[in-house]
Amino acid sequence: MKARHLLVMAAMAFTFDNTYARLPDRFHARVAPTKVREPRLVKVNRALASMLGLDPAELESPEGAQLLAGNVLPEGAEPIALAYAGHQFGSFVRQLGDGRAILLGEVVGTDGKRRDVQLKGAGRTPFSRGGDGRAALGPVLREYVVSEAMAALGVPTTRALAAVTTGEVVAREEMLPGAVLTRVAASHIRVGTFEFFAARDDREALATLATYALARHYPDATGTGNDALALLERVIEAQARLVARWLGVGFVHGVMNTDNTSISGETIDYGPCAFLDEYDPRKKFSSIDHGGRYAFANQPRIAQWNLARLAEALLPLLADEEDEAVRLATDLLNRFPSLLEAAHTSVLRSKLGLVHEEADDLALASDLLERLAANQVDYTLFFRRLCASAADPAADEAIASSFAEPGAFRDWAESWRRRLAGEDVAPEARARAMRLANPAFIPRNHRIEEVIEAAVRRADFEPFETLTRVLERPYDDQPDFAYLAEPPLPEERVRHTFCGT
Ligand code: AMP
Ligand code: MG
Repeated sequence: MKARHLLVMAAMAFTFDNTYARLPDRFHARVAPTKVREPRLVKVNRALASMLGLDPAELESPEGAQLLAGNVLPEGAEPIALAYAGHQFGSFVRQLGDGRAILLGEVVGTDGKRRDVQLKGAGRTPFSRGGDGRAALGPVLREYVVSEAMAALGVPTTRALAAVTTGEVVAREEMLPGAVLTRVAASHIRVGTFEFFAARDDREALATLATYALARHYPDATGTGNDALALLERVIEAQARLVARWLGVGFVHGVMNTDNTSISGETIDYGPCAFLDEYDPRKKFSSIDHGGRYAFANQPRIAQWNLARLAEALLPLLADEEDEAVRLATDLLNRFPSLLEAAHTSVLRSKLGLVHEEADDLALASDLLERLAANQVDYTLFFRRLCASAADPAADEAIASSFAEPGAFRDWAESWRRRLAGEDVAPEARARAMRLANPAFIPRNHRIEEVIEAAVRRADFEPFETLTRVLERPYDDQPDFAYLAEPPLPEERVRHTFCGT
């Protein structure tokens, strides 16, 4: 392997067990990271490092920073850039691939789970097209903060193991400090990976990939004799659960292209993502999402559209007869709306503190959401305050006063209380359970901007440290950091987010 001659191998203890690099050559390109001038550590995620069986202190050493910047390769790494295609804003692009991300290899963690370790921003690859292969510090910090917050919120997601600055600048709309994020994922297989081979009529590669992905992510679904069908079914279920969780925390992904849709069901590729402040189902933040294709409440529909692209790619494997393949795929895809609704209802039930399932629960929740939207009420703050109201109705008035029309809350609260009265649950116990479903802290957009601004303009990483630390425990009240739970003041509101690639 060429990389061995280019780069010194560090003796750092990664126990790699690489399987994707064993797949046929057309699945990836072997390419080493490009060295950077002056790696400097921003942060190592100590808890995640330990879970991966790595020594956090080693990663925090000067040699660790060299490794996390791609200047040296850990022993056993087999750096590759993955091939994939994808539908971007509805249009098919035959070849995308890792243009600035390089997979070092896979490690099996102390929890027994296999994960990819990837350097994002590690230099050009055969898939870079016109790009520089680099990442700017701002988007790296955004991905670090948001992906780790999502993990702590309990939403399936890729993780951030580390961030380093490179001592180099990258040219975007302006010159910005460069950085590398070490991303950890269940895998980096995307809907677009299947589309890559489907577009080339490479049935053999499709079958190999389907069998590989099923064994890696859904091992209990192997052995049916139809891996592609089993995989499609499992991915549909996983995406329904994932998007329901997004809706629960007010997350807007921003670029739900098929190349950003993970087969494992993790949230992946944090670009112009954002969290709702006031509840608005039509909300979109991304400056390039002109039509609102990826707006908050459109995410279930888009997820289904992306899954239809996966089904299309898998069609030749689903059955010998095309009609039969189409019928099988359609049957599975048609289950998505009800899977999503069931998962979403379950999320909403927890948010409302409902223990039993009743037929009208979704109607009760939908009625509330309409009122939140009409009154521009902060989504996160509302539900956190509702926990207090569950314990003591005296807390209602504070909530009502956050509505433009306070009666809109009082009316709904009457139906809610009638519904609660039918369950034999102690108010304090209900409030406690609700506090585990309704975070006090989310990564507010204006706080992320603050973190990025301080780091990029003043090399001040204090706000980043504070925000990441508080977001490790989003369901705990942390009175010293109450300001991080507050919605933005009008002048602090973030209206647009950018890809920043
Ligand atoms: P993303 O918007 O990050 O999902 O990326 C979409 C595609 O553009 C992927 O194929 C990326 O690898 C590629 N890409 C994004 N930024 C860069 C960059 N700075 N250099 C090279 N390729 C890039
Ligand atoms: Mg992407």
